[in-house]
Amino acid sequence: MTARDPTFDPPLGVCPLCACPDVRAFDRDYRGACISRCEGCGVRFMNPQYTDAYLTAYYASYVPEGPRTPEARAFRLAQKTANVELLERYMAPGRMFSVGSGDGLELAVAKSRGWTVEGYDVDDATTQRVARTVGARIYTGDLFALPLECGGYDCVYLDQVLEHPKQPAKYLELARRLLKPAGILYLGVPNIESLASRGKSMLGRLGLSRRRGRFYDTFHHLFYYAPATLPPLLEQRFGFTVLTVLGDPKPRSHPTVATRLWDRAMRHAPWLDSTFVILARPR
Ligand SMILES: [Zn+2]
Repeated sequence: MTARDPTFDPPLGVCPLCACPDVRAFDRDYRGACISRCEGCGVRFMNPQYTDAYLTAYYASYVPEGPRTPEARAFRLAQKTANVELLERYMAPGRMFSVGSGDGLELAVAKSRGWTVEGYDVDDATTQRVARTVGARIYTGDLFALPLECGGYDCVYLDQVLEHPKQPAKYLELARRLLKPAGILYLGVPNIESLASRGKSMLGRLGLSRRRGRFYDTFHHLFYYAPATLPPLLEQRFGFTVLTVLGDPKPRSHPTVATRLWDRAMRHAPWLDSTFVILARPR
């Protein structure tokens, strides 16, 4: 990231997800970013938000850190495999569209398990390379202008995506359009109301944190969700039926009986875990 100072849009007076006009100041992080909370749906978001010009420059200079060690690569592979396995508890492999497909690992995992995969990401060079290595169509450019088949996908997969864009509603509307009637939206996002975030939030408000609100990750996260806010929004505003909401415990290289029990508990206590997963079907 360059040292370029952020620039901001005018403040939002209406919630970008539910259109409620009751938007209130909620928090401020150590970088000076202001966080609002929608009183209608409960979702929090950075307000004001970065300008498009700033975000374009930020992502142009942002190089995601790939796994550097064999252990880190094995961890990511286990994580992606667990995600696809979870999906397969609800549906047989079919046609998948992954938004934010990155280095293509989850596409490769899904393809090896019988899925027909397509992806999308913003970086042209990366998408071309991934398309070659995975052997799949990877789109780039304007996501909302792509020639995608409406009602043609068994799964639309958005893992750690929806917290980034300024218009998350457009992503959910697109997913709804692309899915077959029996298709499934896979949505993984950070949990702003996790046990850890609640504790850190309290320390920040008491002035006991050197980097107050660091967990908002305001370098590039603009929206902050929780198991209590996002599933009702999907059902009430975006035409989905939520099938399940689960915690997202990370794979362990040396699991023990105790960690297995703990992870299982976290899986079924999504309100505690640092990230959570929603599976939802068009209504
Ligand atoms: Zn709202």
